[in-house]
Amino acid sequence: MEHPALPGRTGLTRLAAPAVAALLSLAVLATGCTGATVQGRPGASGLRDPYFPRAGNGGYQVEHYDLDLAYDPADGLLHATAVITARAEQGLSSFNLDLSGLKVESVDVQGTGARYNRTGNELTVRPAKDLKKGEVFRTEIDYGGRPKPVVDPDGSKEGWIAGGDGAVAVGEPVGSMGWFPGNHHPSDKATYDITVTVPHGYEAVSNGELRSRKEVADGQTEFAWHSPEPMASYLATVAIGRFKVTTGRTPSGVPVYDAVAPGEAAGSEAALGRLPQIVDWGTEKFGPYPFGSVGSIVMPAQTLTYALETQTKPVYSGAPDEELVLHELAHQWFGDSVSPKSWKDMWLNEGFATYAEWLWSEEHGGVSAQRRFDAFLAGDTSVDPHADGDWAAFPPASPPGPEHISDDPVYYRGAMVLHRIRQEVGDPAFFGLLRGWAADHRHGNASTADFTAYAQRRTGHDLKKVWDVWLYGEDRPTAP
Ligand SMILES: [Zn+2]
Repeated sequence: MEHPALPGRTGLTRLAAPAVAALLSLAVLATGCTGATVQGRPGASGLRDPYFPRAGNGGYQVEHYDLDLAYDPADGLLHATAVITARAEQGLSSFNLDLSGLKVESVDVQGTGARYNRTGNELTVRPAKDLKKGEVFRTEIDYGGRPKPVVDPDGSKEGWIAGGDGAVAVGEPVGSMGWFPGNHHPSDKATYDITVTVPHGYEAVSNGELRSRKEVADGQTEFAWHSPEPMASYLATVAIGRFKVTTGRTPSGVPVYDAVAPGEAAGSEAALGRLPQIVDWGTEKFGPYPFGSVGSIVMPAQTLTYALETQTKPVYSGAPDEELVLHELAHQWFGDSVSPKSWKDMWLNEGFATYAEWLWSEEHGGVSAQRRFDAFLAGDTSVDPHADGDWAAFPPASPPGPEHISDDPVYYRGAMVLHRIRQEVGDPAFFGLLRGWAADHRHGNASTADFTAYAQRRTGHDLKKVWDVWLYGEDRPTAP
């Protein structure tokens, strides 16, 4: 599914004059390119994701994003430079980046000015010299403007959300193109440096660890954040506000950084107070915590209609409760470290994070996973106040369209798939499977087929009936 039409997507007539000139000279260049120097061809403009076919781009893999952002909440203007280090997977005469809105000022590839043009959410870059297969190349893009939210097929908003006295960037599934150019598909993970300059008095928070915080010219403060572990671009975040910042460590030593909107501080205290224990509980259940730090970003209530598991620091809209913190932290293993290969594999994120809630509950005096499973099966979802839709509406491994990838079956029937495996293989093999899955695909990507094959191999059980009925079956499953 594509996003709604944006100004400029209808082509040449809407392009700025320099871009037209660039395109015309491209045509000239193309006809002249018949000699021995030709080696590249255009990289694909999308990765053919089953639900978001235009998301991401072919022909290269990003290794590192270095984003330098200056933002003023007073006028909502962003001035930015993105330096993208990538490896060509084919000879490239041109390649695409995903970018929605904003104005591109200049593009350099390998230190030389490159031609570029924009159509819809595609920024096509044509380097002065073709890139060779295997070549690691550096693209620098100066861009800016007033970033706007991206509206999803299901109506929710992501991208850059300004409001209150600050802003926050969230990217699932395709919102990251609203604030930086990139290869915006979860299958291309990279490391990040995100530097944010804001007026004095504001805090700027991002993924990973804070390398430096310094006062710079004109009453500005610069925050430099570093993410050394690979990250899918939808999990990148920046939050700007007058946060109350608290730091500490979990009992096992993972550094904690919580940034909380002042109005949400009192309401967040109880749940964020449990965060260190939750991280260490996750380590016990799912294996070593996958990142160098953990934390949270609590935005003023109503900033967003959802919370997101942005890497190392989930974003909450208003004070979270313990269950929500648990859910977003469980995603650090399932979603952030082990990321989906395509948006069709979303249940690998949500089914696992939901099941983590069930596990936490049964070990902390709440309802057991078995009781939840039985109640859901009997049509009673009141054990979970968040389950307000029909968990059986479609098979979790096959949502009917992009507008359904965050619907109840992906979460609850996804969790029930895991419970069915547990029933079949018993606790020791089941928990071995959870830990093994997180370890085997740590900092990588995986598909549903990878999971089903792995589960059978690891547990030694034939689980075909579970897959057929619970994961792929169109019918409402009945008691096993
Ligand atoms: Zn989730």
